[in-house]
Amino acid sequence: MLLASMEAREKALAKINLGLAVRRRRPDGYHELHTVFATVSLADALRLKATPRGIQLSINGGQVPKGAANLAWRAAERYLEAAGWPGGVAIELEKRIPVAAGLGGGSADAAAVLRGLRRIYPAPVDLRALALGLGADVPFLLEGGLAEAEGIGERTKGLAPIGGHFVLLKPPFALETRAVYAALVPNDHGPPLPVAAILEALAQGRCPPWRNDLEKAAFRLKPELLRIRQALEAEGLCPLLSGSGPTFIVPQTETDLADRLRERFPGFWIQTVHLEKG
Ligand code: ATP
Repeated sequence: MLLASMEAREKALAKINLGLAVRRRRPDGYHELHTVFATVSLADALRLKATPRGIQLSINGGQVPKGAANLAWRAAERYLEAAGWPGGVAIELEKRIPVAAGLGGGSADAAAVLRGLRRIYPAPVDLRALALGLGADVPFLLEGGLAEAEGIGERTKGLAPIGGHFVLLKPPFALETRAVYAALVPNDHGPPLPVAAILEALAQGRCPPWRNDLEKAAFRLKPELLRIRQALEAEGLCPLLSGSGPTFIVPQTETDLADRLRERFPGFWIQTVHLEKG
């Protein structure tokens, strides 16, 4: 067998949620969602090289697990097993997306590894099925862009891209997705999102009619998050928690908004991003 290429470079774009409705808790414990996913210009960078056998992973930056506990490693294992090629891979991961931040960093890395390995070791594998086995956000992140998602996040419908700039603001602590879902109560559940109205308001620079049903659970776990939200609102902004947080997304209302927020929130990770096609 001949390799299609010896090496692949992939950008793993972070995702934000332009609203997230928790519809119900399923008997198996998973929650059914309705959300709008969008990829943004913040990304990890991956370089994959064909090797005779095995998986190697080297990581630059970011406090993430090494070896088989890393989602990039697991994605490689699943792909190589499904594709049936005898070769292996060496992965270099440059971590720039904050970890456990609600920005889907691990899922983005997994999707990037699947894409890269498909280029090196082409095979008729069901990439979306492999992606879903790695996490609910991974199928969307295979292609990225803008999409409405239901189910546990895996049933995606692509939407026409829109432009948009956001400031991402993350307080100096992490929040584990599992803990936020565990803190949900049925009263936190809500109706579907008004997707068209959210996108229209964003395109027109108005405050979108969005909400994130995970906010109440996140605020119960970290009451300072509610105070941060209130402080951002007092600045005339429209913050929304991305995913399970603790990163807030704030539509950019002025070019130097990030600088203004850095002064207001010292010690926070603050970055301007734009929506980016996958
Ligand atoms: P999501 O919103 O997809 O639930 P998140 O953005 O909040 O996730 P991640 O940065 O993906 O969070 O990290 C979630 C957990 O996954 C962390 O506990 C982290 O240690 C683990 N993890 C495993 N592999 C990776 C990876 N390649 N990058 C980041 N985190 C990873």
